[in-house]
Parts: sequence; structure tokens; C-alpha cells
Amino acid sequence: MHTKTIAELIQGLRAKEFSSEELTRCYLDRIKSFDKQVNSFVTITEEQAMQAAKQADKRLSDGTAELLTGVPLAQKDIFCTSGVKTSCGSKMLDNFIAPYDATTVERFNKAGMVMLGKTNMDEFAMGSSNETSYYGPVRNPWDLNRVPGGSSGGSAAAVAARLAPAATGTDTGGSIRQPAALCNLTGLKPTYGRVSRYGMIAFASSLDQGGPMTQTAEDAALLMQVMAGFDQKDSTSVDREVPDYSATLNDSIKGLRIGLPKEYFDEGLEPEVAKLIQAAIQEYEKLGATIHEISLPETKLSVPTYYVIAPAECSSNLSRYDGVRFGYRCENPQNLEDLYKRSRGEGFGAEVKRRIMIGTYALSSGYYDAYYLKAQKLRRIVSDDFRKAFAEVDVIMGPTSPSPAFGLGAKSDPISMYLSDIYTIAVNLAGIPAISIPAGFINGLPIGLQIMGNYFNEAKLLNMAHRYQQVTDWHKKIPAGF
Ligand code: GLN
Repeated sequence: MHTKTIAELIQGLRAKEFSSEELTRCYLDRIKSFDKQVNSFVTITEEQAMQAAKQADKRLSDGTAELLTGVPLAQKDIFCTSGVKTSCGSKMLDNFIAPYDATTVERFNKAGMVMLGKTNMDEFAMGSSNETSYYGPVRNPWDLNRVPGGSSGGSAAAVAARLAPAATGTDTGGSIRQPAALCNLTGLKPTYGRVSRYGMIAFASSLDQGGPMTQTAEDAALLMQVMAGFDQKDSTSVDREVPDYSATLNDSIKGLRIGLPKEYFDEGLEPEVAKLIQAAIQEYEKLGATIHEISLPETKLSVPTYYVIAPAECSSNLSRYDGVRFGYRCENPQNLEDLYKRSRGEGFGAEVKRRIMIGTYALSSGYYDAYYLKAQKLRRIVSDDFRKAFAEVDVIMGPTSPSPAFGLGAKSDPISMYLSDIYTIAVNLAGIPAISIPAGFINGLPIGLQIMGNYFNEAKLLNMAHRYQQVTDWHKKIPAGF
């Protein structure tokens, strides 16, 4: 059962090959036997899952089931889950039981999906390796001495090891796409505003976006159908019709114009990765697409711009963790100032503190114009690159990450870690959608092909990804031992 995609599980449940209770038990057992090695879950919601499965089985037999009813799913621990610990990978929220469900969680629950648990992540989603979590690093199932990517590393590792058939992730600068690439999954970062951020703990609000992490594009389409759509509880949610993502998966891609930005194939890209990406692009040519060299000249500005904007927004968002209303509180505070200082000093980890300090500095009076305002202008310039490119091509392709998964502890200085997001960050600055799909292996380690689209073109990206997955089988590979 555990090797099946969501589309196959839906069929199996309908054909009564197995019940949701049996299916849920199978995944819970797998989590128990394998997660000691991987560390992909912070919380396992066993009792709740079995109850939801029972409920789902009832719906499946009385005719009230929806398409995804009875299918298990893991939630990144950044989504608030009513009555369940929601830690965001931080000691600060280690004792936090969310009083309500995030919109995404609520929608999946309503659809009858079964939540298996909450997945490990970089603290407050800050990281590219899942090493900043208070709950310890997640290990990549393809090589347990390597990172799964971050910040949605727990979700990626859980699905790669088939401890869950799919999971949610969030992407502020690459955190769905990069771990998907490093763990051989399909990961879709939707257009900013397509998926509600309500109840998704904020890191950098103008960049954060939730999305699905799945085995296939077909599965991503199924999850997007539930996640996408207007939510009046999120002021940046866009009120725009949600297309039928599954309906266009098989559309022909003949004549489609693919842009290859030369800046994404520079000397920073490992030659072996470049070779695999070229091979994937050839598959698209065989499918009838045409290839065009393009330029996104301001790509180089994206990492420095992001590392002013994201810390600035995080310093503001994280000011709410003051030890007073919820979250970690230091012991025996001497006075109010001591309470603030020690609660934050003891509750946050090093990377989060670094970002709060950078962000506070960039926003302080006297520096605001020089840093934050300047970064906002650069953000526009980076976005304009895409606007111009999409006048000439339909989608843009390149690598998701410059290299396959790196070793645990290998990138100890923050700058080299930050630079590993060079191909993903511009997408967030512009707010456009992008997908990463499995595109081959280097010494047993997976790499990802990234496809970027214009605003609200998720259906086109899923169609492109699905057509490729019809003629390749990289996405079917499962790490040995799982
Ligand atoms: N790696 C980037 C960072 O550390 C992006 C993280 C994310 O997308 N949440 O901020």
C-alpha cells in the first residue's frame, strides 16, 4: 500500500482493496519503524488519525465521501492544528497547542483526509537543510548522512521514505522546491495569494506560500484542488476562480515555448546537474516544445535582496513571541525586561536570532531607506525580469538547486547556505508559481528540474510536469531500505 500514489490510493479505497483504517495503520506503523532514522515527524497524531480514518470509512460506504476522503497526509509543523502541538520547529513554540486550524488544514480535514502528524522543519522555516530545527536535523532517506533540504525537510523526507503518501510544505525562498529536488519529489510553490496563509505561522509574509509535496504531478493537482482558493481570513488571498487542475494534465505541449535563462546555467551549477537538466529539456523537445535561450539578468540580485526583505519581515513577525501570551517563558523573571530578554534569548535558536538582528537593523530609522526601501526597489527589478521573459516564452526551465543533497554539517557558514537558494529565490520575490520535479540521479542522489510559470499558471506547470512523468520514471524511484 505504501508505494502507491494518492491517485492510486483513491482507487484502492473506492474498490475496497483496503479501508482507510488499514491504510492509516500501515503508515503509522511505518512511521514507528522508520522515523527513528529519518526524524521527519515532530508529532504523530495516532489517535486522531485512527478516528479520522474510521470516519472516512463511514463516508466511503454511505456515499458522502469526497475525492480525497480516507487518504492520509502529513502537515508541516508550521500549519496551526487545533488541539495539536504546533511548534514551527522552535523551542519557542514547543509548548504551543494551536487553538484553531489553519485554512489549509481545515480544508483537508473537511475533504476527509487523515492527518498522520506534523513534520519537522527548520526553525520558523529559516534554512535550506533542516539543521536549524529545535528537534534535531532531518536525514535524507537517499543517504542518511546528508540533508533533505529545507525548510520543509521533514515533509520531503517523510514522503520520500513513504511514511506518508504526500505532505504540505511552505516556500518563502525555495522551501518546497529545494527539499523536493533533494528528496526526489514533486513540489509546487503556487502563485502568491493562491493558497491561504491563514494559520500558517508567518516568517516573511510577503513571500510565504503553502503548497503540496507529492510523488507525482497528478497528486499535486489533486491536493491543489483542495488548497487553492480565496479565503477571506487572509487579506492577501486572491479572489480568482480555481481551475480544474486534473482536467488539463494530459494537454498537449506541442509548440509550447520553453525559456532557458543563461544565468541558471552558469559556473555555480555542478556540471553533472547541468547534464541531467539538459537531458530533461531534450525530453520536452521530443514532446513538441520549442527551446529559447533567454536572460534573467538580475538573478544575481535576488539572494541579497531576499536577505534584507525576509529578515526585515521576520523581525516584525517574530516580535509577538515575548513570553507573555503564549510560547516559551523563561523561569523566574526578575522584571518585565528580564522576561522579554530571557524568553526570547532562550526560546530562539541561533539562525532565527541572526535574522531578527539583521532585520531589526535594516528597518531601524536611518537605515530603512538604505536597506529595506532599496531592497523593495530591487525586488521590482528582479520581478521585471520575469515579466519581460513571459512576453517571449510560456514557461522557464532550469535546475532547482545547484547540487544534489549536501552532507549534514557541510555548510557551516551562513553565506554558503544562503547561496544554495540562488535558483529558487527570485520566484518568491516575483510571486510567480514554480514546480520542482525529479529529473535524475548523481551517485544515487536525486536532482530536480524547476519549471517556472507566469502568475496563476499552476495548471500549465502541472501539465508540463505530468507529461514528463508519463515518459520518465525518475519519480517512481524509492530510496533503498524504505
Ligand atoms: N532557505 C531560505 C531561507 O533560509 C528559504 C526558506 C524558506 O523558503 N522557508 O530563508
